[in-house]
Amino acid sequence: MVEARRDAMLASIKDSARDLPGTYRLLAEDGEVLYVGKSKGVRGRLLTHFRAEYPRDKSARIIAESASVSWDYEPSEFAASLAELRLIKRFRPRYNVMMKRDARHYAFIRLTAGPAPKLHVVRTAHGADRSTYYGPFHGAQQLGVAVRELNDALGLRDCSLDTRMHFADQPEFAVAEARTPGCIRFEIGRCAGPCIAAVSQAAYEDRVSTARAFLAGEQDTPIRVLRAAMEESSARLEFERAAALRDKVARLESLQDQFSRLRFAVESLSFVYTVPGAGGEAGADRAYVIHRGRVRHECAVPRDAAAQAALTAKAESILGNRARENGSVPAHEIDELLLLASWFRQHPSELERTARAKAARDAA
Ligand code: SF4
Repeated sequence: MVEARRDAMLASIKDSARDLPGTYRLLAEDGEVLYVGKSKGVRGRLLTHFRAEYPRDKSARIIAESASVSWDYEPSEFAASLAELRLIKRFRPRYNVMMKRDARHYAFIRLTAGPAPKLHVVRTAHGADRSTYYGPFHGAQQLGVAVRELNDALGLRDCSLDTRMHFADQPEFAVAEARTPGCIRFEIGRCAGPCIAAVSQAAYEDRVSTARAFLAGEQDTPIRVLRAAMEESSARLEFERAAALRDKVARLESLQDQFSRLRFAVESLSFVYTVPGAGGEAGADRAYVIHRGRVRHECAVPRDAAAQAALTAKAESILGNRARENGSVPAHEIDELLLLASWFRQHPSELERTARAKAARDAA
């Protein structure tokens, strides 16, 4: 049975699949999408799945579970990458490890929603929650240390998300359970104590706003506070404490520096990107308006003056949007940002081509 299904899939690929860019789906007998893939040559890529060794190889295990295969061509490898991302988001196939390569390298700062938001470092961002994400960043460990410094400097909580909060201005009867007893961070002055009525909700929210403004590069209050404490310690000849505070300042400055570089990188992924079609078919050349690392508009490369004017107007309205970028990325857009960043990192000549085209347009 498995052999017969395998042979039938292989025969259909050999008969009909072409070596053009595209995506493919491997499906179980009940129609579940088991795996989505993409390639600049669909036929060759599909055939490699059938050459894999069972059971050692993941490809061979997917084929053993699959009952059918289907594929769609895309105008280019770039278009295939975008289409694959969209299919993975839609079907969530269990054999796809989403953005596996990048996930190992990146980390995000997550600011949770709710009455006492918490700032912490995560490896992945979920489109479904109401948290705000900042990133992506390299170096989760270093990032974790810097975020801890920020939490300490601003007195933000870092306890588990299900810890019961009890603000100073919250009526006693609204508190169903006992308050968190004796947290060390409160005892040593590193948390304002939103769980033990030591701070009002508004005062805690002020601290969160300061964190947001710091992450947005709008102010550096946490650094100024630490620097003042450092100078005070030096004046009192408390050199050990002054040195510890100096290290904290350095870590926060490095976080600030990473943020400004990130904002620059995201901003630099804003342009019109034209990609020639691989099949040489009319309409296969595509234009993408990319703004802050996400595709905002896509169309065929204009063939006449009217279509060119329409694309120019569209691009101007998208790229001319100068609304303040605060370093945060909506969770549902993070995968696309990672994909585009990865694409242009792997294809630097494409980025240069786009930059040259922009320079030529500006000079015209
Ligand atoms: S003092 Fe309370 S809110 Fe702050 S970290 Fe400790 S348990 Fe969490």
